[in-house]
Amino acid sequence: MSRTHRITVLAGDGIGPEVMAEALRILDAIETRGNFNVARTAHLVGGAAIDATGHPLPPETLLACEQGNAILFGSVGGPRWEHLLPDLQPERGALLPLRKHFDLFANLRPGICLPALTHASPIKQEFIADGFNVLCVRELTGGIYFGSPKGRHEIQGEPVAFDTMIYKKSEIERIARVAFTAAMGRTKRLLSVDKANVLASSVLWRETLIEIAREFPEVELSHMYVDNAAMQLIRRPASFDVLVTENLFGDILSDEMAMISGSLGMLPSASLGNPGSNGLSFGMYEPSGGSAPDIAGKSLANPIAQILSLAMLLRFSLGETAAADSIENAVSLTIRDGFRTVDIATGRPDEIKVGTAAMGEAILARLDP
Ligand code: NAD
Repeated sequence: MSRTHRITVLAGDGIGPEVMAEALRILDAIETRGNFNVARTAHLVGGAAIDATGHPLPPETLLACEQGNAILFGSVGGPRWEHLLPDLQPERGALLPLRKHFDLFANLRPGICLPALTHASPIKQEFIADGFNVLCVRELTGGIYFGSPKGRHEIQGEPVAFDTMIYKKSEIERIARVAFTAAMGRTKRLLSVDKANVLASSVLWRETLIEIAREFPEVELSHMYVDNAAMQLIRRPASFDVLVTENLFGDILSDEMAMISGSLGMLPSASLGNPGSNGLSFGMYEPSGGSAPDIAGKSLANPIAQILSLAMLLRFSLGETAAADSIENAVSLTIRDGFRTVDIATGRPDEIKVGTAAMGEAILARLDP
């Protein structure tokens, strides 16, 4: 009997609908091969929802999300909605409430540079000859962005401003377990990044990681200070596998990883809630980039970030690991065979320049039979 899952598709604005169409074509093909079925309902979000209903996250969209195992998200926003009040803008009014509503505390951002695309990275070729594949696990709902008190006042007539970097042990435990589980599925090495030589919150972070490591005896845990991690990611990215860190450090390091990977059009992301007893989490999966209004509607967008987001959804929320592997493998083969959208093209004669749909087609043709 085939397994049945349910997801909500929120394509959004700009290039969102174009790249989503390619991801859904891949999903159609992969579910037949994998003997499972993914029921999907598409709903409005972001600017498209503002135009139709006046709100970036209409109640019916949220309700539909509650009824599924995961959200496949495109991207939201664009110049057309920038004049609106902050809470009614596509990103602030849709993305943040979704993360909050589903308590999506774990942000997984791979930084992938395939061997055939090392030229797109600003890192010297001699350091990344075989490419790299790093997974950053960032705590997303705690730390200095949300800690209180925060504010500003005056001391002796001079303005002062302050924020609070605070973590409860339970918040560290749950992100640590997500990271150790991710490491188990890869090379069983986990690097915890902190600033335990200066910050009290980092001392608790490190102690807790060491404690949780006992639950995962196969994983080798190591530690690095964040300033050193920022340097080593540039010097030797291929030596990293899975790294886990708190919210602020993760915000900065995951953007650094996106930069050294080459193109935003290649990078997926996942935001996960607490795993259930089957080890699977409700999650929201989306490209790391935005709605790219500069290329929207021109069939120039690279659909790979969206397609790899689908692979992450299959892996982390639906447990369809073989299907996820097959998609990731098909993407690697497509790049190896020379297919390039403009963002990753160099103009070399052996490259096959393609638009959004043709890139989707090439990946489709390389899925396992
Ligand atoms: P962006 O990521 O949309 O674009 C930055 C650059 O990367 C652009 O040159 C764009 O063409 C390119 N790019 C991005 N994705 C690509 C792809 N798949 N293929 C080829 N090239 C790609 O960032 P921005 O220009 O700062 O923001 C544009 C809009 O997107 C803004 O309204 C912003 O608020 C919104 N945004 C949304 C999200 C989200 O939905 N999660 C994230 C970031 C920005």
